[in-house]
Amino acid sequence: MLFLDELPEFSRRSLEVLRQPLEEGHVTIVRAIGSTTFPADFILVAALNPCPCGYLGDSRRPCKCPPIAVSKYLDRLSGPLLDRIDLHVEVPAVPFAELTATADGTTTATMREQVTAARARQRERFGDDGRMTNGRMSGRLIRKHCRLDAEAEGMLKAAMDDLGLSARAYDRILRVGRTIADLGGSDRVDAGHVAEAIGYRALDRRLWTR
Ligand SMILES: [Zn+2]
Repeated sequence: MLFLDELPEFSRRSLEVLRQPLEEGHVTIVRAIGSTTFPADFILVAALNPCPCGYLGDSRRPCKCPPIAVSKYLDRLSGPLLDRIDLHVEVPAVPFAELTATADGTTTATMREQVTAARARQRERFGDDGRMTNGRMSGRLIRKHCRLDAEAEGMLKAAMDDLGLSARAYDRILRVGRTIADLGGSDRVDAGHVAEAIGYRALDRRLWTR
C-alpha cells in the first residue's frame, strides 16, 4: 500500500508518474544505458484537505481561502490521475463527543467476513487467477459481468452528462458497482449499486466547492 498524505502538495510530475503503475502494475525506468521494468503493484491511498486552509465546508470554522486559491489547489490533481482512483470519499470532521461515544457501526470482524465473501465471488467469476479482481476487469469483462438494466443504465447516463465524467470514470463506476453488488451478495449490478458507486466520485464532482 502506498499512502500519500496531503496529495496536492506532491509535484504534478511525481503524481503523473503514478499513472503507469496504477494502470499496469509495473513501472519502467528509462536511463541513458537502457530501460528496466520493475513490479509496482500497490493500492494507492491518499488524503487531502478540501482547500489550503483545511476548513472549507466545516461548520465550526470559516474557510479563509479565496475561491481561486481553492481551484488552484485542487487543479494540481489531474483528471487522468483522479480517473485512476476508484473511491473518492469526503470525510467530514467528527465532533469530539462522537469520537468518544461507543461505536455501534460495522465491526472490523464483520467487514472482514463481507470482504472474504466478496473475494470468493470474484474467484468464482474469474477462475483461479488469484490476482484478478473486479478492479482489474478489461472493457470486455466489464461488458460481460456488469450488465445493467434500463433503470441503472439511465442513472449512469444522467450522471455522466451532469458531472461530465470521462469514459474511464464510467468504467470505474461499473467496476466499483460490481464490487458493491458482490459485497451485498447480488448477482446483478442494480441502480442502487450504481448510485453508490457514483457517490464515490466526490473529486470529479467537487461538490463542496460548488
Ligand atoms: Zn480554506
